[in-house]
Amino acid sequence: MSSAFMERWLKRKASDDANNLCNSHQQNNNINVNPIPPAPEDIDWEEEIQFDPGKRKEIRSYHPNLRESVRRKYLANGPCQPRTLNFPSTRIGDRNRRFSPEWFDEFGNWLEYSESTDRAYCFTCFLFRDPTKKEVRYKSFVLDGWNTWYNKERLKEHVGNVDSPHNVAKKKCVDLLKREQHVDVKLHEQLESSKNAYFVRLNGAIDTTRLLLKQ
Ligand SMILES: [Zn+2]
Repeated sequence: MSSAFMERWLKRKASDDANNLCNSHQQNNNINVNPIPPAPEDIDWEEEIQFDPGKRKEIRSYHPNLRESVRRKYLANGPCQPRTLNFPSTRIGDRNRRFSPEWFDEFGNWLEYSESTDRAYCFTCFLFRDPTKKEVRYKSFVLDGWNTWYNKERLKEHVGNVDSPHNVAKKKCVDLLKREQHVDVKLHEQLESSKNAYFVRLNGAIDTTRLLLKQ
């Protein structure tokens, strides 16, 4: 190796080291400024996105940067509304009571039933209701599930008036679906392939929007 080459190489190496030092210093600074760790990348979505509402994790348990993706995935699946299960009955007072799948039609596309817990849940409140506001109904329709089958008035009460927490959550749901459609249409125009996965997702999103808007 010629000494001139060696000199150039050493110079370059020294300046690389200085850059690296500078970069690692910057990274340290970033960590200090922003204490939120990066979102995990190795997520098993098959495992995470549970169709059965009794088996789901709360949205707020996900990294803030992942919550929108989690919501989109759930919206693409739609609410869990099994109709042909053998719904177990429970003796309440002098009568046997059980969940009625007709309530899906009567009360709308927010209502979900979990086979694993034999309880009912709210899809839109699960996705968008603010859980920091401690309320009884968040607990009963998102966390614990509802099962006082003899009192279906509770379902009407859950929906509440125009400004109720449920209806605020529903509006956020519809907004996300509309944004999703917009993004998907743009992507679709660019890709021009009807066999693309986005197209499948687009149809799913439109169907869910229709269902939610119909209520
Ligand atoms: Zn709700």
